[in-house]
Amino acid sequence: MWKRRASIGMAALGLFLSSTFGSLPSVLSPFHQLENRDVRAYVKHNLGGIIKIHEDNLRITFDEEPEVRWGQPRDLSASAYPEQGIALASFDPETDTIFLSAPLLRNPDSTLINLLLRKFIPRVYKQRSPTDGILSHELGHYFVDQEAESMGEGNWPPDFENYTLEEVYGIQLVSEGIACHFEKLFNFGAIAPYFDSHWPTNIDDWTNDDIYNGGFFLVQPIIAQYGLQGIRHLILNPPNECEIYDLPAYRTNMLEQLENQICFEEVCIQG
Ligand SMILES: [Zn+2]
Repeated sequence: MWKRRASIGMAALGLFLSSTFGSLPSVLSPFHQLENRDVRAYVKHNLGGIIKIHEDNLRITFDEEPEVRWGQPRDLSASAYPEQGIALASFDPETDTIFLSAPLLRNPDSTLINLLLRKFIPRVYKQRSPTDGILSHELGHYFVDQEAESMGEGNWPPDFENYTLEEVYGIQLVSEGIACHFEKLFNFGAIAPYFDSHWPTNIDDWTNDDIYNGGFFLVQPIIAQYGLQGIRHLILNPPNECEIYDLPAYRTNMLEQLENQICFEEVCIQG
């Protein structure tokens, strides 16, 4: 239902890479307007439950529910990045606000195919809604920002003024990788397979596929093994200007550092 753009414009990196984009559908019909009201009610009713599922899955705690606003962030609606299309969803770390675009999201129960699948194969048909995955992605950004602020790192991702392109990609790999980890809990098809042999050797060759799918496969083993401790270590240590050129080695180093942290803590506790 939704697609991300294939290339990244440097000018648009700040907001674009923390957003989920699609192109305008051709379905702004009365039926779709009805559906808009449904999806707003759906999100309002299910946000707390989706947060609870993520809390249980990763053994984490959201300090509070984020503010959810319907529409486009100001920077986008002001056509600052007209070439990027319209955002399905985005997160603004400055105001801790998730923006959702009602015309582009769907209530899971509102399509005929969903109704039929749920009725006839409820045990097999486990997918809830594309909206759950997209909302989860932005909740991932919201949680990372919460943790960064609690560790004194400020808003995350930061604004990228005076950052090199390598530094921007390093932070965005972690930011989008963690967000995709949240998203994948509800949408297995969201993340395409990515292999270490795909990493671009030239900084000008990076695409959204590298940032989103590559980012997920970069951070996934770290989060799977170390959970919240892994997420915090990633926020504090995104790939630097050198590490961006050897990301398999970066992942190995991160896992070793976390292993040593735990060994150190165990020795300290035992001592
Ligand atoms: Zn994102």
